[in-house]
Amino acid sequence: MTAMMSKWARTRHRLRDYVNQIKVERGCERCGYNKNPRNLQWHHVLPKTKYKAVAEIVSEDRCIKKINAEIEKCMCVCKMCHGMLEM
Ligand SMILES: [Zn+2]
Repeated sequence: MTAMMSKWARTRHRLRDYVNQIKVERGCERCGYNKNPRNLQWHHVLPKTKYKAVAEIVSEDRCIKKINAEIEKCMCVCKMCHGMLEM
């Protein structure tokens, strides 16, 4: 096992937990759902301001500052409400 890989994996897990925590704290901003972070997604209020999906920043950039900046541009919504917003 390489030390570098395991460090990256740990960072990724920590950042994913961090994002999930925020999702549950905010809950769906349309219906209030806040049970499972897997069902909560980030919706870019202004798609033009999108850098990339928060999950992509977690796995590719691994940078908490970029994650926070991206979350600022988003609404937290559940899968169902997200589907309606995208229509
Ligand atoms: Zn909802």
